[in-house]
Amino acid sequence: MIIGILGFQGGVAEHIYMLRRIFKERNINGEIRIVKKIDDLKDLDGIIIPGGESTTIGVLARRMNLINELRERILNGLPALGICAGAIMMSKKAYDRVVGEVKQPLLSVMDIEIVRNYFGRQRESFEIDLEIPLLGDKPFRGVFIRAPAITKVGNNVEPLAKLNNAIVLAKQDDMIATVFHPELTNDTRIHNLFIDLFGR
Ligand code: GLN
Repeated sequence: MIIGILGFQGGVAEHIYMLRRIFKERNINGEIRIVKKIDDLKDLDGIIIPGGESTTIGVLARRMNLINELRERILNGLPALGICAGAIMMSKKAYDRVVGEVKQPLLSVMDIEIVRNYFGRQRESFEIDLEIPLLGDKPFRGVFIRAPAITKVGNNVEPLAKLNNAIVLAKQDDMIATVFHPELTNDTRIHNLFIDLFGR
């Protein structure tokens, strides 16, 4: 199994630790590949698009000519897990609270609309327990860092967790978008859910 992590910018290392731990726990013969160019997409089983700054990630992915190829691969079924900025990258439309729809490069693979920095200034970063029925009774500790929120989803999208009125975790086919950071907890359930998409 080869799992890629888009490696232009943002929180890459924490995903490596988490994946290595899961490989060990599940006895998976896994390889982790930092993806920065088209060749790196070869033979991937899944890709993580990490949190960071979505404008930077998008601009670099476009500059390296990766954005169109990655979009094609995901639309053709490559499983993808987008975290925070990665969820913004996966959205069809992204908005900024102040300036409205943003023009930054997006992958636009998931039928979701997302609002950047949704939780505003005072609450830029916070942690809260989330109920995620699909993952069982135990709450999931949501680590929100200048997080966006998913404000609109298509019929084919399954909202998996909400905070107040906003969707914070969603799934469409083999794509998962989370606006909080599971890699900054000890809880492997979301990464395991992602691996279950292709690692059965
Ligand atoms: N606010 C960032 C953005 O809009 C996302 C923050 C994050 O990934 N932790 O790209």
